[in-house]
Amino acid sequence: MTSNNPFPKGHKINLGRKQSEETRRKISLGLMGRQLSAESRAKIGMAHLGNKWGVGHHPSEELKKRWSEQRLGNKSSSWKGDKVGYSQLHKWIRKYKGRPLWCSFCGSTMKIQWANINHDYKRDLDGWMALCISCHIKYDERERNGKGQFV
Ligand SMILES: [Zn+2]
Repeated sequence: MTSNNPFPKGHKINLGRKQSEETRRKISLGLMGRQLSAESRAKIGMAHLGNKWGVGHHPSEELKKRWSEQRLGNKSSSWKGDKVGYSQLHKWIRKYKGRPLWCSFCGSTMKIQWANINHDYKRDLDGWMALCISCHIKYDERERNGKGQFV
């Protein structure tokens, strides 16, 4: 029975290309603050339930409001004030939140780091999200440029 074969002879499924196109789409969606795809949301839901997989945090409206308030009113606060070095902080976050497994923005599973959401580098477990290295750089650059707003 070969008539059920959905692929014609010689048909090639280019998974790699399809995947990277989808990933690129996710990056732009993620950085623009649009709704996460259903897939990403499912992952986040799982992360919240099991706290095992990526622990992705998509910024809610409330959280974003909190960030901008903190940024306006609390500019002097930094990790230096906490007397905790950046590397110590990363050790700490990994100890409590584990190793981040995928990027909250693009869903990549390569080179995932914990990114500080507010850039205040407090020992606040909710203030961290998992980002791949490229999204992390983009996220931090946005802050450094003084454009301030995470969109
Ligand atoms: Zn990413």
